[in-house]
Amino acid sequence: MEPHHAPRHARKRGGRWLLPALVGSACAVFLLCLLPHLMPTASASGQPAASPAPVESAPDSGTPGISVNWEPSPSPAPEEQEEAPWYLRLVNLENRLPQDFTVELAQVDGGPFDARAAEALSQMLADMEAQGLSPMVCSSFRTWEDQETLHQNKIDSLLEEGYSQEAAEAEASRWVVPAGASEHQLGLAADIVASQYQILEEEQENTPEQQWLMAHCQEYGFILRYPKDKTEVTGVGYEPWHYRYVGVEAAQEIMAQGICLEEYVGQ
Ligand SMILES: [Zn+2]
Repeated sequence: MEPHHAPRHARKRGGRWLLPALVGSACAVFLLCLLPHLMPTASASGQPAASPAPVESAPDSGTPGISVNWEPSPSPAPEEQEEAPWYLRLVNLENRLPQDFTVELAQVDGGPFDARAAEALSQMLADMEAQGLSPMVCSSFRTWEDQETLHQNKIDSLLEEGYSQEAAEAEASRWVVPAGASEHQLGLAADIVASQYQILEEEQENTPEQQWLMAHCQEYGFILRYPKDKTEVTGVGYEPWHYRYVGVEAAQEIMAQGICLEEYVGQ
């Protein structure tokens, strides 16, 4: 039965399309004839039509005679947006530095630091000492190789403790991230401890030096980078010794709101 039906369907289909095609052609011819009468600009004699109102320099304003207050878009297209300023650069496991990253360094008491922020760090340390405190920078700028070695050392010690390779790598990254993922490589992070208590553990927060830093670091443009209640966001354990330079404005806001850098820059 199928062979009989198929040709009939084909004929029927052809017939259905014939009428719309004819109507379409007729409409097109009609519109072409009408077009000169619809055009508003010039008459058939070649005389200019009634002069349109002056148009401000408005590219693509569309209809003549309508003035459009055209202004360039104030916000650049996403691909043209500027990078974050150097002092707000986010570095973590998801935002890694390239291996060829370089930065101009200045020597601060305790090690090299980004030259643009070195004075802020020096001033903060000097003001602490002026108040009888005794801070000590135990780590500042690190090279790629420095970070790689520290990370591997942490993995090795965890392996010795009995961790599996996979577990050791995961745990190590919570404390000593792999090369490229540490903001110490930016030259904007300093681990500051009390001279009398140099152990990098949670109790560091009880020293007068940390108490002072947590209360005043933002005045110098620094933040406590890995707060206790933000480990889920930062991916790094609580480090009451790791301070990061972000500039005074951002530091004031971050510390006042109790947020972390990831939240401040919106990532
Ligand atoms: Zn650190």
